[in-house]
Amino acid sequence: MKKNKNIIVLGGGTAGWMSANLLHLKLAPLGYRITVIESDDIGIIGVGEGSTPQLKVFFDLLGIQEQDWMPKCDATYKYGIQFRHWCKPDPKRPFLDDYFHPFPASTDARTAIEFMHACHTMMQGYPAPVKPDPYFLTAYLTHKNIAPCEISLNGGSCNYGYHFDSYKLGAFLADFGQKQGIKRCVDTIKDVKSCENGIAVLHGKQQTQYHGELFFDCSGFQGLLLQQTLNVPFESFADNLLNDSAIAIPTKRENLEPMQTQATALSSGWAWRIPLTSRVGNGYVYSSHFIDKEAAEDELRNHLGIDKSSPARHLKMKVGQVSKHWHKNCVAVGLAQGFIEPLEATALHLVQETVVQFIGAYLAGKETLHFQDAFNDNIRSRFLGIKDYISAHYCASNRCDSKYWKEASQAKHRTAHLQQLMQLWQTGQDINAYLTTHKLHQYYPTMSWYCLLAGYQQFSHRQFESPSPWHAHFSEYA
Ligand SMILES: Cc1cc2nc3c(=O)[nH]c(=O)nc-3n(C[C@H](O)[C@H](O)[C@H](O)COP(=O)(O)OP(=O)(O)OC[C@H]3O[C@@H](n4cnc5c(N)ncnc54)[C@H](O)[C@@H]3O)c2cc1C
Repeated sequence: MKKNKNIIVLGGGTAGWMSANLLHLKLAPLGYRITVIESDDIGIIGVGEGSTPQLKVFFDLLGIQEQDWMPKCDATYKYGIQFRHWCKPDPKRPFLDDYFHPFPASTDARTAIEFMHACHTMMQGYPAPVKPDPYFLTAYLTHKNIAPCEISLNGGSCNYGYHFDSYKLGAFLADFGQKQGIKRCVDTIKDVKSCENGIAVLHGKQQTQYHGELFFDCSGFQGLLLQQTLNVPFESFADNLLNDSAIAIPTKRENLEPMQTQATALSSGWAWRIPLTSRVGNGYVYSSHFIDKEAAEDELRNHLGIDKSSPARHLKMKVGQVSKHWHKNCVAVGLAQGFIEPLEATALHLVQETVVQFIGAYLAGKETLHFQDAFNDNIRSRFLGIKDYISAHYCASNRCDSKYWKEASQAKHRTAHLQQLMQLWQTGQDINAYLTTHKLHQYYPTMSWYCLLAGYQQFSHRQFESPSPWHAHFSEYA
């Protein structure tokens, strides 16, 4: 008979329930019992409404169909992110005011070559249509409002993510997990005892004790187990990323909303717009060193064209990562392991990767710590790779209309990789070789870097051609 082994997941936010479901799927057959502890005194963060295409893989792994979860979570499809006003306005070339960062489709193999060719032409000093949008299928689909379930790619594939209500997604996953056999305990942990192996026992407010072989710290920004109890240091990303605060305000949904997140640059950060079926999630991610919370709220309301009647939520963000994501018998996941600001909506993607990689390393090491170092290197590199790409948005933008934007584009905020990449691009050299050699293409493919650098018009001369029409290849989806 298999011996029962306990895994305690502290935290019932999205990270806690995603972790618990994945752990249950892979480890319950080996005799592990998963318990989630969540507090009704301490809520979940309740923002985080956009995903990458990886979330589809998560639902596929669990065998959950879109028709089963999407309506319950007010979810919509997401084909990518539209970046608006991240460049200095150019009245002669208004078409350069925004660009779309697409999720990839298999058809891009044909069309993206032409986009790259246009970029290389510009680098050599000749005018070319370098706005990314017309070359990418998912940009076309969002423009035409065609949902993924309405197209057939004849054996090809088109990546997409989702927008969702994070409270409802958490509740859905909690419900699903409990039906599979995950135990849920509503309690607030008041004391944690450690031992040589790491975490020994958690004490709830009613004196209940929680023992386990493994502990998952999904307790949010505070990092109660890994950071506070096991003293694993937190490394801030403040040198590269200035934003440390956010405000969220929901608004009414329009009849027709594009299947994309919008990220619009404001005076001291950027505003998100995320359409759900029930409402639109909006927010302003900003640096408190450049604007105070009242002024930021006024600016967001002004941007949204709304008065003070709808309530605003103010949040602080702790941006960085722990120095080890798995230490002794404790793994941190979600905000407890780190956070890179939400510009590319990568947090849940990192949750999923962390748990999947953990399960792989743990089982490969025959349920020991054997592959702990390799796992930690892997997850740390993922955080750093995503940080490089997100920092690139600020370094590549040529906005200089506020103190914030002047500061954000300073070379001193560039990561070492970013410094190299920008130099290669600006001197017309091959960034692909650099991305591949340093394995950066694992986090963001070369095409994403081309979209970003061309989208921000990182060319030494400014002979932009108007965008080309939508690529002829897409006509069959019209
Ligand atoms: C402004 C902003 C925008 C974001 N946008 C996105 C996005 O678009 N896409 C994306 O993927 N991510 C986004 N994120 C990140 C996303 O919100 C989080 O990664 C996600 O919600 C997971 O949070 P969590 O579960 O780690 O923490 P939380 O939601 O904070 O959950 C913590 C849990 O721990 C429990 N807990 C804490 N202490 C105790 C205790 N002592 N005893 C018992 N229980 C305890 C709480 O009850 C709660 O259940 C955003 C974050 C911010 C700040």
